[in-house]
Amino acid sequence: MSKKKTSSSSETLACPACGLEHAPDERFCRDCGMPLVRAGYEEPARDQAHERARKIKPEFTRGPLARVAGGRNQAEAELIQNILLEEGVPSVLRRSPGSDVPDFLAAGNRDVLVPESGYEAAREALNALDMGPSEAQYGPRVAWLVAALVGMVAIAALVAWAITSA
Ligand SMILES: [Zn+2]
Repeated sequence: MSKKKTSSSSETLACPACGLEHAPDERFCRDCGMPLVRAGYEEPARDQAHERARKIKPEFTRGPLARVAGGRNQAEAELIQNILLEEGVPSVLRRSPGSDVPDFLAAGNRDVLVPESGYEAAREALNALDMGPSEAQYGPRVAWLVAALVGMVAIAALVAWAITSA
């Protein structure tokens, strides 16, 4: 009796990077940490998974996961993921420890983790874009504060000028 794959294959999860199959209750690949996709996936998502898998370089999928950058929300973290993927580095997102935003919200800081072997490549890719670990969290905020301060000083000067010239 040859055991052909039945419809239960739609219950099986597979890793888009290495193809390893997993039980339905697992979310990340045991081997490389990639988010799992359904093995029997239909066209659009499958193409996307293949597209991602095609970009990932196998030499960047080894080793334990390490935090390489942080996003201030889900969208920013996904942007970082896409930048890393362009360099062939797979990554996973994790809610930053100590975040007080409820789990179901897209807000709240996210850690971007990459396999150890892809860490250097990931750092280089992010540094080239000024999105290294420190800058990603504090840079834009500081820049915004400075802009706000300059704006307030300008308004104060304008008000003073309006009063004195009236
Ligand atoms: Zn895998």
